[in-house]
Amino acid sequence: MTDLKLIMQALSFAAHKHRDQRRKDVDASPYINHPISLASILINEGGVTDVNVICAALLHDTIEDTDTTPEELEQAFGFAIKTIVMEVTDDKLLPKVDRKRLQIEHAAHVSPQAKLVKLADKTSNLRDVAVNPPENWSLQRRQEYFDWAKQVIDQLRGVHPQLEALFDAAYASRPK
Ligand code: NDP
Ligand code: ZN
Repeated sequence: MTDLKLIMQALSFAAHKHRDQRRKDVDASPYINHPISLASILINEGGVTDVNVICAALLHDTIEDTDTTPEELEQAFGFAIKTIVMEVTDDKLLPKVDRKRLQIEHAAHVSPQAKLVKLADKTSNLRDVAVNPPENWSLQRRQEYFDWAKQVIDQLRGVHPQLEALFDAAYASRPK
């Protein structure tokens, strides 16, 4: 399959899987806007051309937030893309507080490709928390989200200076 075909297939797959979901902002934006924003950050702002990274970004929340299985991803997109998605997927059997801690502990030890997806994900979410935060989040909760995201990203620095600078620019909008 050509790179462009694979990317369109990942976008269609994610759009279908997330079709009934919304983000947590006041407008309840369509969920797929978020994976698209990761792909846009990677391609248009970071200059990333690795098709496996782009596809993994589009698919990054399918296992965590839909009924998608790892086997399904491997069947449709192959071992490499499935593996990157698995690397950025939290274990939903664990309590939220443990998942947050494990993201900090694991960030340094994932593949370079997974680090790029994490950088784009945290950048996208900081931009959202700054401008379109989840409904009812207090100032303190927004600030805590910024600080946790920075703790995660600080563990994986050195992989892509341009994306790290984009993250830092997003962090500069930490709510006051
Ligand atoms: P989360 O931190 O899980 O919610 C943020 C996540 O929601 C993001 O990482 C993103 O994940 C997704 N998301 C969806 N829409 C948006 C949006 N518009 N902007 C940003 N992110 C969005 O919050 P939880 O409610 O699950 O709580 C997690 C932790 O927060 C717990 O550990 C809990 O203890 C703590 N907590 C803190 C409180 C406080 O006031 N400080 C109060 C209650 C809980 P993705 O990219 O994966 O879609
Ligand atoms: Zn995400």
